[in-house]
Amino acid sequence: MTDKSPKYRIYEVNKASKKRAKTSILIIYTGGTIGMEHDSTGTLVPINFSQIVQRVPPLKILDINLTIISFSSPIDSSNVTVSAWQDLALIIHENNVQYDGFVVLHGTDTMSFTASAISFMLNGLNKPIIFTGAQLPISAIRSDARPNLVTSLEIASAKKDDIPMVPEVCVYFDYQLMRGNRTFKKRSSQFAAFGCENYPILAKAGITITYNESAIMKYVNPEKFNFNNQFCTDVIIIKIFPSLKESYLRHMLATPNLQGVVLETYGSGNAPTEGWFLDCLKEAIDRGIIIYNVSQLVGGIVMQGRYETSKYLKEIGVVSGNDITREAAITKLMFLLGTESSHEAVKQKLIASLNGELTVSK
Ligand code: ASP
Repeated sequence: MTDKSPKYRIYEVNKASKKRAKTSILIIYTGGTIGMEHDSTGTLVPINFSQIVQRVPPLKILDINLTIISFSSPIDSSNVTVSAWQDLALIIHENNVQYDGFVVLHGTDTMSFTASAISFMLNGLNKPIIFTGAQLPISAIRSDARPNLVTSLEIASAKKDDIPMVPEVCVYFDYQLMRGNRTFKKRSSQFAAFGCENYPILAKAGITITYNESAIMKYVNPEKFNFNNQFCTDVIIIKIFPSLKESYLRHMLATPNLQGVVLETYGSGNAPTEGWFLDCLKEAIDRGIIIYNVSQLVGGIVMQGRYETSKYLKEIGVVSGNDITREAAITKLMFLLGTESSHEAVKQKLIASLNGELTVSK
């Protein structure tokens, strides 16, 4: 039996202003608290987006043509998989010509993973793709949904000399604009839910929005745009801790079809020097498994070879993730394993910056 229900619902948002706005933005609602309200039983359910202007009155005075596409079955972002990333990327790709920018409404739990994945899939699109969400549903009196949405729209439509101010994938939350593939969720019960330790903040919203222009990606000719949406999910994250058992590590690395591992190490990329530990990793690498070294610290930077405890990792062929986040690392590994034809190419690209997700030492 085929599922005939439409995947998306589309709402044209009527503007109060009769004059034709200069900018067109597509809002995509994937799910999450931002677009929800309590029903009569107290359960959080998605709002009817045709009433968004009543919910967020400032939308009436923004000089922007707005369209909303909502996933027909919005998802809590804890249920996001590769297929949601692919759906989202396809919506943006197919609507690229009609819109100047995109605002993606997404649950906060996995927003940084999705923003990273989209930055790799739509590398070179050169348009603002601003992810935002909320800690309190849009129906709550003190909700952060309204300011987060309105400012994200302002940022997505901001231009200088007819060129977008922020031609990249970002997360906007609690008055800060951050490069999406540099973010991580750090708090579940405060409005400042996201962190970005290893890269400067791209803009701050106060009385005005102040852009940190030198940190924002430069606009380049969109002819370089290359749409890729394949991922390989034969990957795992292994976080080390004191007394990790050899048998457990061996078991994980012996998982059938395993192709890549993000190894979460201590400090600047350090790990035990015990023979069995290095042997386990080396045997896996010899079987063709790629091991990507990422620090457990939120602002950690891997420097393989700085200490003896990381020197051996380098010697056996573990790939350094430098200052990449866990969220960007696992999505990048999945993306490269899905799109590159050789493991050598994957390894080369893991240490390079695909779209600003890590710092490449000069
Ligand atoms: N669990 C929710 C989600 O990530 C939380 C939120 O919406 O922020 O979808």
